[in-house]
Amino acid sequence: MVNEKMRDLGARRSVIRELFEYGKKRKAEIGAENVFDFSIGNPSVPAPDAVNESLLALIREKDPVALHGYTSAQGDAGVRRAIADYIETTHGEKADPDLIYLTVGAAASLTVSLTAILEAGDEVILLAPFFPEYRVFVERTGAHAVPVLCDTKSFQPDFEALEAAITEKTRAIIVNSPNNPTGAVLTRESIECLAALLTRKSETYGNPIYLIADEPYRELVYGDVEVPYLPSFYPNTLVCYSFSKSVSLPGERIGYILVSPTASEAVSLYQAVCGAGRALGFVCAPALFQYMIPYVLGLTSDLTVYDTNRKLLYDALTSYGYEVVKPDGAFYLFVKALEPDANAFCEAAKKEELLLVASDSFGCPGYVRISYCVTTEQIERSLPAFERLAKTYGVNK
Ligand code: PLP
Repeated sequence: MVNEKMRDLGARRSVIRELFEYGKKRKAEIGAENVFDFSIGNPSVPAPDAVNESLLALIREKDPVALHGYTSAQGDAGVRRAIADYIETTHGEKADPDLIYLTVGAAASLTVSLTAILEAGDEVILLAPFFPEYRVFVERTGAHAVPVLCDTKSFQPDFEALEAAITEKTRAIIVNSPNNPTGAVLTRESIECLAALLTRKSETYGNPIYLIADEPYRELVYGDVEVPYLPSFYPNTLVCYSFSKSVSLPGERIGYILVSPTASEAVSLYQAVCGAGRALGFVCAPALFQYMIPYVLGLTSDLTVYDTNRKLLYDALTSYGYEVVKPDGAFYLFVKALEPDANAFCEAAKKEELLLVASDSFGCPGYVRISYCVTTEQIERSLPAFERLAKTYGVNK
């Protein structure tokens, strides 16, 4: 006998992972160069030099026993201090090392934060479209995910729908900006409206509604687009940060949770985070990569390829007749499928060897996600396939 829910989760891969595995098989069959794999958000540019340089220096210079030994459960104190200092100088907001918890990436940050807050029967608002794993992380706690569709013209929140969805059971809302899968960045105006709404509803129901800011893409923005720091707008915020995307280290599993010092009962919230980390077995994130953090704070990989890809794909796809909201950040394009059933559309795309992710599990059916963290050459070679696909639906401009 096993836990049926867990068995189900393990037996059914996510749509993204399923397509990624299909891509590997297909590439072995017909050659990697003949498959246009846009399935997964694996950064395609190397980490900044400071990553390897700091790792080598740490290996050469730090006491090897300490380097590879356990740190405090919540992460090394010096590393947490460095993160807090960085936040204070970058965002001009107080941050407390004793309210920071090092984790194995944003996924762990999210599941720990949700476990810290939720009881069975609680509700968590997910702004749709959303990263599909949110549902898994929320439902694991016995709480319910409540998707609220964004305005699909801008992918900013639909505040009327949001207001209607908040109930006395709402404990948290997850916000992801820059966004996977749309690339949308929450505007200052949206954040102000959101903060006002959450404050009002928290007062009405007499308990805090936590804002969980999922920020693995914080630094991945194009042009002069700003990504406001959410604790500046709303005190009851937990920031879930990760180094997976900004410095291209998804396989190293490193990130953190920051509890805003202005949160009500911040210390007990942080204790609950520590307790959830303990209960989930996420104590002491990988030590070597913790020690690297002070050397890479504020750095990014070279993002110019993503920007080139973004413009190239957006211009080409819109010229072929596809409907797309131009993304300001992350490395995804969210494209309206050319028939109502996005899964059927993805199957048609596969005939052109285009691997696109159907949007149903993002809580917003009828679209496909394109991960453009690939080589520019792949995009250039894929364009005729996108054009032919549009023609088969008779929508070529
Ligand atoms: N949140 C979002 C929106 C993501 O897109 C991802 C990964 O793709 C994660 C969280 C998980 O990130 P990590 O690799 O840091 O666990």
